[in-house]
Amino acid sequence: MKLPQLVQTQFLSVQDVASIIHKIGLKTVFTRMAEYIREDYLRWHDFEKCARVANHSKDGVIELMPISDAKSYAFKYVNGHPKNTINGLPCVMAFGVLADVATGIPEFLSELTLSTALRTAAMSAVAAQELARPDSKTMALIGNGAQSEFQALAFHYLLGIEEIRLFDTDPKATEKLIANLKSTALRLTVCSSIAEAVRGADIVTTVTADKTNAAILTAGHIEPGMHINGVGGDCPGKTELHADVLHRSEVFVEYEPQTRIEGDLQHLPADFEVTELWQVLARQAPGRRDADQITLFDSVGFALQDYSALRFMRDAARELGLGQVVSLIPELVNPKDLFVLIHPETQETTEPSPRPNFCAILAAV
Ligand code: NAD
Repeated sequence: MKLPQLVQTQFLSVQDVASIIHKIGLKTVFTRMAEYIREDYLRWHDFEKCARVANHSKDGVIELMPISDAKSYAFKYVNGHPKNTINGLPCVMAFGVLADVATGIPEFLSELTLSTALRTAAMSAVAAQELARPDSKTMALIGNGAQSEFQALAFHYLLGIEEIRLFDTDPKATEKLIANLKSTALRLTVCSSIAEAVRGADIVTTVTADKTNAAILTAGHIEPGMHINGVGGDCPGKTELHADVLHRSEVFVEYEPQTRIEGDLQHLPADFEVTELWQVLARQAPGRRDADQITLFDSVGFALQDYSALRFMRDAARELGLGQVVSLIPELVNPKDLFVLIHPETQETTEPSPRPNFCAILAAV
């Protein structure tokens, strides 16, 4: 008897991703995710790229982020709703898929809310490794919400940052961050204003959420030698940096066509010069040139980082035997006969095959 073609989709839940972190530790996760990101950015020209597709509404945005190379296709579904937290929901929620280009089979389906925080922080750290002064020890962290601890720890583990200077308009957000990071070696200093947090900092990370053109940082805050990691300005009409900050800085971006639409760069004319980060990683353009230069990573979140995050999570789950197989695609004896699945008389022949052992499947992938 002809057996149905097995179509296996590995599923990784939020709990599975949390288990990966518990089992191998956050430092290793950041280190390995940064390696995956670097590896993929060095293959920049292998990828078919586009700016993400965004559907805007009054209070937020829902976006699809596709990318592919010759072997794999990835996409992420992600939202950004700054007012969500008032109703007990995260500002950012996401999931994504890695699919086989040759057949279109969606091989891996994963949560990406936690993974987005990890990959955003890992990406920020990769950029800062190229752009911040190597002797950087202090970082100002403006915005102490869901992404903030990940940013603090990625910079601690991957750049050796020792002190974080905290400011949020919501003191409870800062209290939460301090409670979450109290057992780490980081020195946490609460500041009463942005100016106080930023003064003397080697690196400034802005990771606030407000659907407005805010001026979290103005030119008056900026000091020679600073590296600015602008994370929260990532949508048309949602920015964090005054245009003068960009004018005073050497600006680096993930994917220029997307950042021109979404980043703090949206304030500047189309001929304002920026450098794509892959060029720096590939040694085709300089990163920081001297100790006094002001560098700015205008991060918006690009699909390639999600491709890297999905690849890393798939591989880590395989190593640790985590996740499960889900029936996302029908298994058919005759691929031209989809109707058989709902035909009452043939229900018997369409009983789902027993789910094979997940680790055995992964070993074969
Ligand atoms: P969140 O809502 O959990 O936290 C945002 C924090 O910013 C809140 O605590 C809020 O009180 C604070 N804040 C708002 N306005 C402020 C101001 N003027 N000064 C100081 N603090 C202020 O959101 P989150 O999940 O942490 O996301 C933060 C931002 O990062 C969002 O804008 C999100 O869209 C963006 N983001 C970017 C990327 C990327 O790749 N660049 C990835 C994920 C999230």
